[in-house]
Amino acid sequence: MNRDKQDIIDAVKAYIEFEKEAGTAEFLSSISRKKIAPRSETADDLESLKKEVLECTKCDLHKTRRHVVFGSGNPKAKLMFIGEAPGEEEDIQALPFVGRAGQLLTKIIEAMGLKRTDVYIANILKCRPPNNRAPLPTEILACEENVKRQVEIIHPKVICTLGKFASQTFLRTTTPITALRGKFQEYNGIKVMPTFHPAYLLRNPADKRLVWEDMKRVMKELE
Ligand code: URA
Repeated sequence: MNRDKQDIIDAVKAYIEFEKEAGTAEFLSSISRKKIAPRSETADDLESLKKEVLECTKCDLHKTRRHVVFGSGNPKAKLMFIGEAPGEEEDIQALPFVGRAGQLLTKIIEAMGLKRTDVYIANILKCRPPNNRAPLPTEILACEENVKRQVEIIHPKVICTLGKFASQTFLRTTTPITALRGKFQEYNGIKVMPTFHPAYLLRNPADKRLVWEDMKRVMKELE
């Protein structure tokens, strides 16, 4: 949810509290919740896509997964982060980026002045490859439609692709991530900023500086 909408909701809540004090609670309770806070179509579309993806058996990863890791965050986010595939912790919790790399991604998001609930986080693959091996081309082919449908529904202003697999999948290229990172490109009219994967940053902390440069470009675009 963007800040303007949150401000409106906070103002409505404050008004309702005020009205309760003034003794008009009965009147307000007669108004259905749906009228006060209509559920967004975006969230509904995302929920129905999620139901579909939870049943997916298009590749062999469904045989070894504990959970499908669909994605999490704000269905109306202006910024989407897209990673590679769930790791062990994500497979256990059914949430993206909750392991060590995820903690670093959270720090990056917070350094941008945002919260995880402001953005949407997803992966190219929705199921964990055994022993965290790299995704196979056949698995990417079977799964990429899901993340692309998430992008279509959320329609963010900026997508930040994390690492080689997400960047090359969205940009339809085999160019190495070292050459892609830091330069905006487009996917279906949406700006894409490729950057290094947080797991790579855990092994190469000196490159955090480059990722921060990329995030500053993203923040400028979101202004
Ligand atoms: N790495 C990813 O690419 N995605 C996750 O969700 C966790 C680690």
